[in-house]
Amino acid sequence: MKSINIINLISIMIITGCMSIQVQVNEPEMTLTESITMEQSNNPFLKRVEFYDNYPRFDLIEPQHYAEAFTVGMREHLEEIELIANQEATPTIDNTLIAMERSGRLLDRVARVFYAMSSTNTNDEIDAIEVQIAPELAKHQDEISLNENLFNRIQRLYNEREALNLNAETLRLLEETYDGFIRSGAGLGEADKSRLREINQELASLQTQFDQNVLDERNRQTIFINDVSELAGLTQGQIERAAQDAESMGHPGEYAIPLLNTSSQPYLSVLENRALRQRIMNASLSRGLDGDFANAEIIVGIVRLRSERAQLLGYPNHASYVLSNQTAQNEHAVIDRLRGLSASASRNALAEAAQLQSVIDNEGGNFDLESWDWPFYSQQLRQQLYSFDESDLMPYLEMNNVLENGVFFAANLAFGISFSERQDLPIYQEDIRVFDVTDADGTQLGLFVFDPYARSNKRGGAWMNSYASQSKLLGTSPIVANHQNITKPSGDEATLLTFDEVTTMFHEFGHALHGLFSNVFYPSLSGTAVPRDFVEYPSQVNELWSVWPEVLANYAVHYQTGEPIPRDLLNRVIESEQFNQGYATSEYLGASVIDMELHRLAYDDIPTAEGLMDFEASVLDDYGLNLSMVPPRYRFPYFSHIMGGYSAGYYSYIWSEVLDADTAAYFYEEPSAARDRGQALRDGVLSRGNSQNVMELYRNFRGRDAEVRFLLERRGLN
Ligand SMILES: [Zn+2]
Repeated sequence: MKSINIINLISIMIITGCMSIQVQVNEPEMTLTESITMEQSNNPFLKRVEFYDNYPRFDLIEPQHYAEAFTVGMREHLEEIELIANQEATPTIDNTLIAMERSGRLLDRVARVFYAMSSTNTNDEIDAIEVQIAPELAKHQDEISLNENLFNRIQRLYNEREALNLNAETLRLLEETYDGFIRSGAGLGEADKSRLREINQELASLQTQFDQNVLDERNRQTIFINDVSELAGLTQGQIERAAQDAESMGHPGEYAIPLLNTSSQPYLSVLENRALRQRIMNASLSRGLDGDFANAEIIVGIVRLRSERAQLLGYPNHASYVLSNQTAQNEHAVIDRLRGLSASASRNALAEAAQLQSVIDNEGGNFDLESWDWPFYSQQLRQQLYSFDESDLMPYLEMNNVLENGVFFAANLAFGISFSERQDLPIYQEDIRVFDVTDADGTQLGLFVFDPYARSNKRGGAWMNSYASQSKLLGTSPIVANHQNITKPSGDEATLLTFDEVTTMFHEFGHALHGLFSNVFYPSLSGTAVPRDFVEYPSQVNELWSVWPEVLANYAVHYQTGEPIPRDLLNRVIESEQFNQGYATSEYLGASVIDMELHRLAYDDIPTAEGLMDFEASVLDDYGLNLSMVPPRYRFPYFSHIMGGYSAGYYSYIWSEVLDADTAAYFYEEPSAARDRGQALRDGVLSRGNSQNVMELYRNFRGRDAEVRFLLERRGLN
């Protein structure tokens, strides 16, 4: 569930090819306990020894410091909360609302660094602490959000808010804080609160089981191959990798193809052996359906508990509970949007299928296109239509050049900011680069940390996180980081990127800008602390600069000769971005609709475990998305997003994309105004965090609401 801003909120945002992790906890003044502990400990979280605001002491932190700092941090936070909740004085904004904003500062610091490291540079000790700390943090959060005295004080302020003559941001904080308490059950009677605690605990345990099953089942379904000739289509490097993987999985002499999370699998686009492709796709689609790691019972259990909780909190179903504080507001708005898009997306997918069938027929293949054929033949068609290979392009896309002369250059062009590298700050791994970010008037905005390479102790995907968020109340500046999983070349070789990796770099930097530009008073309303269905807007819109002519000309130069990329090659690359959109949109929408429809069922209509997959099929049928050759990107038994924090939320990406496409059109309408319009975007939206309703911010920036037609054009859905 989307958690609340008031206390310690740890929400993980997962998206297509990108993850943005947001760890947000509020911050305390130094207390007596902390000052005593400081003198006795070398723990860098307990001693205030930062170089630059909250920049972590990576040179000093040991894993055991996290566990200790979590324990002290939670204890301190609770002590602070008790003082606020039990004081004699009449509630005021200062002694209650702002005191809460200041509380939990140590816990905030340790949680941000810990979750950053558990994602990007983990080890067995960190993994063990993570397992141990998760339920403790959940319990900690319940102790605060269900604290009756604390809630009574907030409620009294909330009821008197009209008379308090608050400024707009403080009023927003009060409303958001009150709403957060209500959404966590603070307004319930004792019996209901007690049932709510049980539900939350049962959910935490079922969700952990689900995640472990997904991982175990993915490993169980790994494809092993004896005969290397079956691997035709893979590069020599990929074949060697498959042999190493098999060896490390206890199958020496064989070749392993491990499955990724999604329904479709990357090697399907290159493997020439049709039977092997079928074997891979079938293994992928059947994950979690039966055997020791079957997930249907768990899914149904989770959905029932969520439904019961929604009813306790006064909502007819889980989706309406989740959506009530999103920009979409209610499930009907989402359903209408998804239904409208599905009809045209599936029509386009069917047209693409017909094209692929003719490629098969022309090759003399005597079979019908199936899901395991689609990626392979669409790759062939793409090469026929656009006649370029990724390898033609990569010499023009050297990573550091893309960063400094592309991503940074665009940020200067649109927003006037500049960057200079810091060599004096400690880093946790040798490839990390840290930059000062300076505003047009020379003042320092914050720090940017760049961690590009894949490592065995780093999770997949790409994401942004904040080590510190901006707040005038606390006097803190933002420290933000971007992560990717780019393969590190050997020795001194240059890091040459695919165009997808370039786009991802711009995307993640859009999240970074949302953090860096934040200019608000309260930490709970800072930067990326916006509704989940809005958070991908700043990142997606920043992708527009990757193909902005002036920016492209600046970064897409040959890494050896310095020659600019040939114009026709570039045009073919940009044109090919429109290719296969029917498939891409349909598989995304398939996953979105099964998520939304499952979570808006009334309790009595929730299917049994035996009926779950029939329910999935009937939803896809209903939306016209039941295309056997285009499976949904995830099926229920391995749809981790929606059994975790993205329930009734997978629609968010395309929802944010409406704003993104609308804004991109605005920039393209008058390219010479890029700097002015960039400034307006920054002042009106990117700097404002959640200090005002974000859709109002958008309307003020754009002069009207976003229009969906630009998204439809972009995806060929009009
Ligand atoms: Zn993102």
